[in-house]
Amino acid sequence: MAANENTSKSLDVPLLVNQSHSCTSEKALNENTWVKLICGASNQDLPSITDLCAVYAAAGVHCIDVAADLAVVNAARRGLDWVTSQVGTKPWLMVSISDGKDVHFRKAWFDPKHCPPGCPRPCEQTCPAQAIVKNTGILNNLCYGCGRCIPSCPHGLINEKDWYLKLHDFGPLIAELRPDALEIHTAPGRGQAFESILEEVLKAKVSFKRIAVSCGLEGHATNEDELTAELWQRHDCLKRHGQKPLWQLDGRPMSGDIGRGTSRIAINLWRKLHSKAPPGPLQLAGGTNSQTINHLEKDQRPNGIAFGGMARKLIQPYLLEAQARKISLREWPEGWSQALSQAENLIQPWLSKSSNPKIC
Ligand code: SF4
Ligand code: SF4
Repeated sequence: MAANENTSKSLDVPLLVNQSHSCTSEKALNENTWVKLICGASNQDLPSITDLCAVYAAAGVHCIDVAADLAVVNAARRGLDWVTSQVGTKPWLMVSISDGKDVHFRKAWFDPKHCPPGCPRPCEQTCPAQAIVKNTGILNNLCYGCGRCIPSCPHGLINEKDWYLKLHDFGPLIAELRPDALEIHTAPGRGQAFESILEEVLKAKVSFKRIAVSCGLEGHATNEDELTAELWQRHDCLKRHGQKPLWQLDGRPMSGDIGRGTSRIAINLWRKLHSKAPPGPLQLAGGTNSQTINHLEKDQRPNGIAFGGMARKLIQPYLLEAQARKISLREWPEGWSQALSQAENLIQPWLSKSSNPKIC
């Protein structure tokens, strides 16, 4: 295990959380103050995921969205549980899946039959997820593809493999992860695939607070009217299956939120769709950053916003410094306070606004 993983130590300083931020997730959607952290891809350090989730949960986000991977979900839960133990608030944990054909995770793999007897197993000590166990090689559900074990094997036996999820994998996966909410990335023309995957995940008998539908225009060769029709198709599907929607409008595809002009792209998509979209909260994503709120008119308020790469970038120096000190950010009071302050500066303008909701 990494030195700073799975810690539940308390800080020596107050957590410095402004309790006026706290508001339940559903209430936040109704009051247009919803903020989500998109934690990002699965191939990140687990301790960093725990710290990142802890910082933004303490700052007051209502939901944290992570990859549908057990090791990543466990790391995020450690951060959320820690914040709950400190201040009592608990954001929803959302996991993201896709109705596309290319749903896969990169995992490490080796055949233990080829390991020489007496190997001191440096691979096992290197793995931060306890995914490498004696005799059975790598546990697929715990490996999150960080790649650390690959150079640790003196015999070069460990390789990376792409593991593609099949339709019938989604039910057991969601039953194992048991998230509060689910996000399905979809695209025009994938209505049938969306319904198939929804039916599979509902077999897990998990009660979802919301099912977010993530879709945008960029990269899909479509226009706003076609996108609107697609959203209504997903609405009818969710309604048939008794699920409450949350519409995530992706101005830019994943990781598109760093760069000039990106927040205007996200807002323009919301402006085009908000009067035509189906019932349910509309949330900005994919292109959002600290400038986004400044580009909205006073009477133009989406129900919420999601921050991804920008949120991570703000905290990254503190995560790296904590790693260099071989402690968690939660064990470094000065770094924690500064990171929390950065996170609050990003999300505070969204936590305090209010306008007429458009929610069913
Ligand atoms: S890639 Fe290797 S070190 Fe990383 S989680 Fe998987 S088994 Fe563990
Ligand atoms: S270090 Fe290499 S040889 Fe040794 S147990 Fe791990 S995979 Fe097998």
